[in-house]
Amino acid sequence: MTRPFLFGTNFKMNQTPSESAAFYTRLTETVKIPKDVNLFIIPPFTSLAAVTDAAQTGPDALWIGAQNVHWASDGAYTGEISVPMLAALGIDLVLLGHAERRRDFHETDANLNKKVHAVLAAGLRVLLAVGETAEERAFAVSEETVARQLKIALHGVADIERATSLVQIAYEPVWSIGAGGTPAKPDDIDPVANAIRRTLAAVLGEPGANVPILYGGSVDPSNAGSFTALSDIDGLFVGRAAWTVEGFLATFKASLAGRNEGDRVSG
Ligand code: PEP
Repeated sequence: MTRPFLFGTNFKMNQTPSESAAFYTRLTETVKIPKDVNLFIIPPFTSLAAVTDAAQTGPDALWIGAQNVHWASDGAYTGEISVPMLAALGIDLVLLGHAERRRDFHETDANLNKKVHAVLAAGLRVLLAVGETAEERAFAVSEETVARQLKIALHGVADIERATSLVQIAYEPVWSIGAGGTPAKPDDIDPVANAIRRTLAAVLGEPGANVPILYGGSVDPSNAGSFTALSDIDGLFVGRAAWTVEGFLATFKASLAGRNEGDRVSG
């Protein structure tokens, strides 16, 4: 069984609609995507229509993602966006549980479980972010933390037909992401990625083995390949380094080189 290789970026609260559409167009005109690889970009909500328009007039080569969603399909939820609204725009993927949303907007695992079910029921892909804080790491509960996050957020998913083929996990240690983050070493990531793989098997059964696990946190062209060489890592979820087309391409290229290296090592 070969899992697909995924690579993408989350723009966070950056880029206007025209900037995001220009990024999409330039990237799709430049990038060469190998057969078993999927690329994605996750612009802010206000850019989604401009980017899906660009995908209609130009090459429809990337998955386009949203940074969050509400679990209800409609209702009195001022400031929120629903799954049917994203589906109507032609969105492919929804990021759920990013560390900034957990930290700043009190996103809980139980609410993430409702969101996961809402997204999967509509047949859209989920990119579920998990990861331990610096404090949890210091107390040596990184593996327990990600297992707990996965067990709650993915509770009940195994019962939904086709659902596991729509799930991907982003492992993002909170201590390694963003401008104040400490870049991780592959040896930090490997045991937690193994724990994620074991938990996916426990929660989703055999199909859990097909769920891609991406690594994210202070990735750039200099270290991308060291993470993708790990046997449980199936791609990268990149912030700052991929916010220019040149940076996206350079980091993607380095990630593919590491992946090929990892394939040689593991035979
Ligand atoms: C992130 O915040 O999800 C992230 C991966 O950011 P960066 O690559 O900038 O550390």
